Amino acid sequence: MSLNSSTILNEENSQGPKRSLEQQTPSSFQDNPLQKLQLASQEVLEKAKKSGRSKCPRCSSSRMFYCYTCFVPVETVPTTEIPTVKLPLKIDIIKHPNETDGKSTAVHAKLLAPDDVTIYKYPCIPEYKEKRHEVALIFPGPDSVSVKDIAFHLQKYSRKGVGDTYDDGSKEPFLKKARVEPTEEKDINECISNSMNESTKLKKIIFIDSTWNQTNKIITDERLQGLLQIELKTRKTCFWRHQKGKPDTYLSTIEAIYYFFVDYHQEILKENYKGQYDNLLFFFSFMYTLIKNAKCGTGKE
Ligand SMILES: [Zn+2]
Repeated sequence: MSLNSSTILNEENSQGPKRSLEQQTPSSFQDNPLQKLQLASQEVLEKAKKSGRSKCPRCSSSRMFYCYTCFVPVETVPTTEIPTVKLPLKIDIIKHPNETDGKSTAVHAKLLAPDDVTIYKYPCIPEYKEKRHEVALIFPGPDSVSVKDIAFHLQKYSRKGVGDTYDDGSKEPFLKKARVEPTEEKDINECISNSMNESTKLKKIIFIDSTWNQTNKIITDERLQGLLQIELKTRKTCFWRHQKGKPDTYLSTIEAIYYFFVDYHQEILKENYKGQYDNLLFFFSFMYTLIKNAKCGTGKE
């Protein structure tokens, strides 16, 4: 069962749900979960920090570390010195147009897993209707399910044909498509198919990148209706721009992506987690430390 945060979004103004902490990781990790990450060397970021803002190789804007409009690192941060993370699923991130680009952590995902991440600016988003048996949306709500139950629920979608359009044999093209995917991805898929039917395999996961107050507009969009919704385990955020008045379980986008994949790895792929996705927090952890130190320095904390 998912935790009792099903009311989060219906009670925007409340203090948020009473949280159950029993599923949390040990308390030492909770204090600073970023401390134990297995990260690539952040020397390149240290250097870039010292030299200050640099130019975006595409739009020439002056930026720190990366350009949040072009999704590329700046000139003082060579792409070759940034780790790359291979994800077992594709990610679509839907950004709210009012979400300030520079504040969004969604771009971290695109920089670190460029082959697997697509960022869309709302309202320009894909149609998911015909792919409901292989797509899920990370979003807490009354009908959301936990990561471990994804396969079970997608299977229902497939059988019932929820709604109308896709249970008319249109599944077949997806099956064919799946077989010609690159080998690396196929290997991962094969692990999953031990416990799942080919037609009920999760292939894409959607995240919404916006402040919680803006989320409502996106989540009620017709194109996102009827999708399986997944709720993440309760985890505390380290986000330095923590949203005022919101519980500390409201994760930043990159944290949500990271924790989703840690759960997915253990509960769906059934493998030990050995830090495979830790580098998703490569920028996040660095910036977190920077800001924390800065706050300590000025006695703000
Ligand atoms: Zn740029």
